[in-house]
Amino acid sequence: MTRIDLRGTASSGGPGGIDRDLLPRAELDVEAALEKVRPICEDVRHRGTAALIDYARRFDGVTLDRVRVPAEALRRALEELDPAVRAALEESVRRARTVHSAQRRTDHTVQVVPGGTVTERWVPVERVGLYVPGGKAVYPSSVVMNVVPAQEAEVPSLAVASPPQAEFGGLPHPTILAACALLGVDEVYAAGGAQAVAMFAYGTEDCAPAQLVTGPGNIWVAAAKRLLKGRIGIDAEAGPTEIAILADATADPAHVAADLISQAEHDTLAAAVLVTDSEELATAVDAELSTRVAATKHAERVTEALAGRQSGVVLVDDVEHGLRVVDAYAAEHLEIQTADAAAVAARVRNAGAVFVGPYAPVSLGDYCAGSNHVLPTGGCACHSSGLSVQSFLRGVHVVDYSRDALAEVTHHVVHLAEAEDLPAHGAALTARFDGKVPGA
Ligand code: NAD
Repeated sequence: MTRIDLRGTASSGGPGGIDRDLLPRAELDVEAALEKVRPICEDVRHRGTAALIDYARRFDGVTLDRVRVPAEALRRALEELDPAVRAALEESVRRARTVHSAQRRTDHTVQVVPGGTVTERWVPVERVGLYVPGGKAVYPSSVVMNVVPAQEAEVPSLAVASPPQAEFGGLPHPTILAACALLGVDEVYAAGGAQAVAMFAYGTEDCAPAQLVTGPGNIWVAAAKRLLKGRIGIDAEAGPTEIAILADATADPAHVAADLISQAEHDTLAAAVLVTDSEELATAVDAELSTRVAATKHAERVTEALAGRQSGVVLVDDVEHGLRVVDAYAAEHLEIQTADAAAVAARVRNAGAVFVGPYAPVSLGDYCAGSNHVLPTGGCACHSSGLSVQSFLRGVHVVDYSRDALAEVTHHVVHLAEAEDLPAHGAALTARFDGKVPGA
C-alpha cells in the first residue's frame, strides 16, 4: 500500500495538529456524486414507479413489472433458507437485540418549580425506509442492523428496499428476503441506489413516503441521503466502508492484513488505512497482503480498493501521534492493535465504532458482536453516530405549568422578550393576568 510518512510532522495544522488533507481519502467523494444523483431523485419524484423500473433496467440490468415484493416471495425465501445461515442470522438478531434493547429510552419528567414540569417524551418516527445494499455484495446482515433498532424503538411502519437482482427474477437477493421474513417485515421493495432513497423521500404509487431513511450503501446511496436530507430524515452518511487500524510493533501482521482485506472486499471505493509507528510492522503487513490478496475470492476488487487514494499506510512518531491521526481521520471502523489496547481505545474521540485488541476484528462487528454495523463514513464520525434505537426516536418536550408557576416567572419572560425586541412574547403571558406582570 502507498505510504504516507507523517513522522516529524506532529505539530502541523488541523485538529490535534494533524492536517486532514494529508490523510488518505477517496477520489470520488459524496460531494462529487451529488450532481449525478440529483436528476435520478427528481425523476423518481415526478414519475414514481415508472422511474424506478427504468433505473432497475439501467443500473441493475433487470426488467421489472412491479417494485413491491409479493408476500409469497418472502415466505418462500425463509422456507428455503439454508439452516446454517438461518441459525447465524438468528444469533446475529439475538445479540443485536440484547444490545439495542438496552438503548430504549424512558420518558423523564423534571419538576422545574412547584407546579411547573418539563417532560421529555420519546416518540418513534411514524414510518421509516430501511436501505439494504445489494450491488456488489448482498447484505442480509444490514436487514438485521436496520430492523432490530427500528423495532426496539417501536416504529409503527417499516419498509425495506434493496436492489433487484437479475439472477433472482428481479427480486432482491433471497437471503435478504428471508432475513426480512425472519424479522416479520412484510413491506419490501426491489429498488436500489439513489432511486430507492428518493422513493422513500417522495413516495410513489406503491410506496407511501417515509419520514426517515436509514441504512448503509455505496457512494450513490450516501449522495442521495445528503441531497434529500431535510425532505426526509437520515441516520448518517453510511457510505463505502472504511477500516483504520492503529497498530504498534506488538500487532500481528497477519491479523492486520486479514482485517484490511476484509473491509476492502466491500467495494473498490472501500478504504483500508494502517496507522503505525513501526516501519517493521508496515513492511510485514505489506508482505502478508501480497500473499493473502492473491488468495482471496474478490482479489480484483480488494486490489483496487487497497491501491486507491483512499487507502494506505500512515507512519507516525508514536502511538500518541497515531491517536491524533486516527481522531483527525474519524474512521467508520477503528481497530486498536497496540500494547494496552483498552487504555488507548478509551482515548479515541472520533470513530464510528472502536474494536479493541486482537480478538475484536471488524468482521465480528459486521455480523455478530451485537453492535450496529451501520456507521458514519467520510469523516462524518466526528459529528455523527452509528445507527441505534435513538436514531428512530425524537425527544419531545412537554411543558406543563400551573397559573401560579407561570405568574412567578412572568417578569423574567417580559424582560427577556423586551431585550429581544419581541414585546408580543411578553404580552402573551401578561394577557393571562389582566395585562399586568403579577407581583409588579
Ligand atoms: P448498493 O445497494 O449500495 O448499491 C447498488 C445500487 O447502486 C444499484 O442498485 C444502482 O442503483 C446504484 N448504482 C450503481 N452504479 C451506479 C451509477 N454509476 N450511478 C448511479 N447509481 C448507481 O450496493 P453496493 O454497490 O454493493 O454497495 C454497498 C456499499 O455499502 C459498499 O460501499 C459498502 O462498503 C457499504 N457499506 C457501508 C456500511 C456502513 O455502515 N457505512 C455498512 C455495510 C456496507
